[in-house]
Amino acid sequence: MLKRSKGLKSRYIDQSKFNISLFKGELEDKAKIIIPKMFKGIQKAKSIYKKAIKELSDELHLIPERFWEEVIDKAKSLGIDQIGFAPIDENLIFEKDYTGSIEVLYENGIIFGMEMDYEAIDAAPEPPAGLESLNIYVELGIATNLLAEFIQSKGVKAIACHPLGGPILYPAMAVKAGLGKIGSQGLLITKQFGPRQRLSLITVNASPLPEIPELNFDVEGYCKKCKRCIRHCPVNAIYDEPIIKENGIISRIDGEKCIEYFYETTGCSVCIKECPFHKMGYKAAYYARL
Ligand code: SF4
Ligand code: SF4
Repeated sequence: MLKRSKGLKSRYIDQSKFNISLFKGELEDKAKIIIPKMFKGIQKAKSIYKKAIKELSDELHLIPERFWEEVIDKAKSLGIDQIGFAPIDENLIFEKDYTGSIEVLYENGIIFGMEMDYEAIDAAPEPPAGLESLNIYVELGIATNLLAEFIQSKGVKAIACHPLGGPILYPAMAVKAGLGKIGSQGLLITKQFGPRQRLSLITVNASPLPEIPELNFDVEGYCKKCKRCIRHCPVNAIYDEPIIKENGIISRIDGEKCIEYFYETTGCSVCIKECPFHKMGYKAAYYARL
């Protein structure tokens, strides 16, 4: 079954509002390479989608178990750090994908995470953090596109969803895939990197999916005591108590407040930097608090 949105609203990210004049000297030189590459990756994902919708199929493609092993090996060789699998949840598909214009997804999803550099994120909200966010959009975007083409070369239908924006709520899909839990700042928290990763997705008509691991991993209880991201957000954009919207989706952030500061700093990332799961790692942070 092809999957379509049930009306979940997404936020428009106006890429022209990123304040790239912040990047000076060496960072400016890097930005001149990174930013055009990011747009190229988005265009590539769009062309993969355009091609894919010409031959959409409602049929599932039954694959042997070793298919997933090949996908995992290929993903790792492309620098992807985390890989999870989950059926696409239509409630998490956005009504409008402002970046990739994707309107329809295949039955199953492969969710990917790529770590952001520790030192760069630790500089947030200064420019090295913003540039690292853009850099991972590039790296993960390229890897996602290449992997989608690899999957297609195996006779499986695939749509690549770029990490910037995207047609579906990635953190919630990552939770369904057993990669982690959601923190108070609305980001995916994983045992490996805390909140310090970006996410992307490939949707496929391949089935059955590998077994989804149970995740014995407490974040909610820790967040209730911690609240560092709430206290340190420069514009008070993180709600003390999450809001449940009419469609049942939980909102933890005042998006209007966050996005303006995000543009101003080209990626903010203070709520990643301040999270103990980023600073100390999951185990150390968790047991230090007990
Ligand atoms: S990205 Fe920055 S502005 Fe947005 S919620 Fe996090 S700390 Fe606040
Ligand atoms: S900073 Fe604290 S409250 Fe915020 S996500 Fe991290 S652990 Fe949770």
